Amino acid sequence: MNLTERYFSVRATIPSAVRIIAVSKYKPLQEIEKLHVETGHIDFGENKVQDLALKAMALKYPIKWHFIGHLQTNKVKALLPHVSMIQSIDSIKLLEIVNKEAQKINRIIPCLLQFYIAKEETKFGFIYEEVAAYISSGKLMQLKNIEFCGVMGMATFSDNKNQIREEFQSLKRIYNSLKRNYFEENDSFKEISMGMSDDFNLAIEEGSTMVRIGSGIFGMR
Ligand SMILES: *Cc1c(COP(=O)(O)O)cnc(C)c1O
Repeated sequence: MNLTERYFSVRATIPSAVRIIAVSKYKPLQEIEKLHVETGHIDFGENKVQDLALKAMALKYPIKWHFIGHLQTNKVKALLPHVSMIQSIDSIKLLEIVNKEAQKINRIIPCLLQFYIAKEETKFGFIYEEVAAYISSGKLMQLKNIEFCGVMGMATFSDNKNQIREEFQSLKRIYNSLKRNYFEENDSFKEISMGMSDDFNLAIEEGSTMVRIGSGIFGMR
């Protein structure tokens, strides 16, 4: 199968209400452009600020760039003009810096809060209590340049389907609690970004609204 055929075969297995983020990290511009032109797909994901910025400047299409990697605070300024959504907000400090830099360029940035759901040392993210305490303190409400759109999480890299399913369920529970306790009135707070090439079917069964698919579309990196 070629790129476009792989895209459509993945697409065919995913309900239309679930948004696909085509993770184009480490892939050349020509492939991204080809996929966009041949399929009309517009949501792409990158995990390095410089790559996202270069690709966004080169491709003059209505492409939406999602940042999905660990974001260093000193790179926020370079990212903001190009990004459509930051899916990987993983600390209060980062949240506050994104807000401050967004204010300077008069943008409201759609963001997802990344939660730590895996049993691995390497994954970034919040735990629920951290975010709940910040909201209770009243500080989150003051971040006028952030649009809170939901949550993101990554399951453990493992073959154990039960474990992965439990981790997705834990993210869904976190989303439900936040929605019920703090974001009931906020219609933007509706996304649960979970599921990658190897586990997106499981993630969708557990309530994912956004899947981030790289190798399943673009082939091996
Ligand atoms: C690379 C990456 C993906 C996509 O991974 P695949 O297994 O290639 O689908 C999804 N989410 C994040 C955060 C990533 O870094």
